[in-house]
Amino acid sequence: MNKNTQTHFETTLIHCAQEPDQSTGSVIPPIYQTSTYAQSSPGVHKGFEYSRTDNPTRRRLEMALAASEHGRDGLCFASGMAAITSFIHTLSPGDHVLCSNDLYGGTYRLFTKVMAGFGLEFDFVDFSQGGEWESACRENTRLIWLETPSNPMLSLIDIERVSVFAQRKKLRLLVDNTFASPYLQNPLLLGADVVLHSTTKYIGGHSDVVGGAIICQDQELLEKLRFVQNSMGAIPGPFDCWLTHRSLKTLSLRMQKHCENAMSIAQFLEKHPKVESVIYPGLASHSQHELAKRQMKDFGGMISVVLGADLESTKTFLSSLQIFTLAESLGGIESLIEHPAIMTHASIPKKERDHLGISDGLVRLSVGIEHVEDLQYDLSQALDRI
Ligand SMILES: *Cc1c(COP(=O)(O)O)cnc(C)c1O
Repeated sequence: MNKNTQTHFETTLIHCAQEPDQSTGSVIPPIYQTSTYAQSSPGVHKGFEYSRTDNPTRRRLEMALAASEHGRDGLCFASGMAAITSFIHTLSPGDHVLCSNDLYGGTYRLFTKVMAGFGLEFDFVDFSQGGEWESACRENTRLIWLETPSNPMLSLIDIERVSVFAQRKKLRLLVDNTFASPYLQNPLLLGADVVLHSTTKYIGGHSDVVGGAIICQDQELLEKLRFVQNSMGAIPGPFDCWLTHRSLKTLSLRMQKHCENAMSIAQFLEKHPKVESVIYPGLASHSQHELAKRQMKDFGGMISVVLGADLESTKTFLSSLQIFTLAESLGGIESLIEHPAIMTHASIPKKERDHLGISDGLVRLSVGIEHVEDLQYDLSQALDRI
């Protein structure tokens, strides 16, 4: 199963760990919907004992995801949050984690409301500019946790720059690469130690499966993670792994279209009189456009928009849309839109939200792969109602 290919990204995603089934020739390997495995005598088995520990369908997905991020190996989890929770359990009480300050709402909630009660310490600082974060590093800091582009403000962090600092201080650097996907950005190649995904988003890509993954280089850390995963049990089922693996094969094509559509919609919105500002790393008006060009292959499918409108008019706009679905989540083939202050980021205190720029007029678009003219028309008719 282990095909250590030197091929291009697209080819790797389609063929890695997908050799035809040996016993039947089935081009697509079967789904191993089993909880346990027959042993010929006690302790003698074919590498699989129990499906919490390991399952062939999950293993294939882990290998393909590892290849997509240029890691030695990877692990799959029941959700992005399960991956994050498991990773945090490789730390010890008293350890300090330095996080970027515009984190996924669920991660922020886990760190501040759940894990802080287990003796771990978290700080949230602005990594998008120099200075502040370097001095926030403490004696007991063990891990730097970044998201870039961030959610929902789409600010960027220079991964390579932070990795140089992390290496000097002997800290581990983890990047949650969910927003970019492995197609746009490979943190391990930029010096990060660990890359994490909510595969629910671009990797799954069809809004029909929840999952998470961690990929890294360090063999010792991989073993520790497998131990934690097997002990805590936050594993995905075989069918979810199979669905996610099927989606991974079209990631490149989907991402190209997400990026193309998002760029054209960002340009359209930037010129619209009802729009105050558009935040998209692909626009020259984005303050980190140069970093985006250097660090990412393209600019992604996420756009944040500040409407020149109060909460009521913003709600009218959102409920007037016909093609964009008002929903949390992102990264699917269908276009979604959401209101961070009320929906995804409600768990962040208002004071902190205001500080980050998550205002009542801010909406976040996950641009899908529909025909771009239909998407533009939909936004345009809804903006007319403000
Ligand atoms: C969605 C998301 C998560 C959490 O993943 P789930 O699969 O929903 O548990 C973590 N990080 C980011 C950046 C996300 O977008």
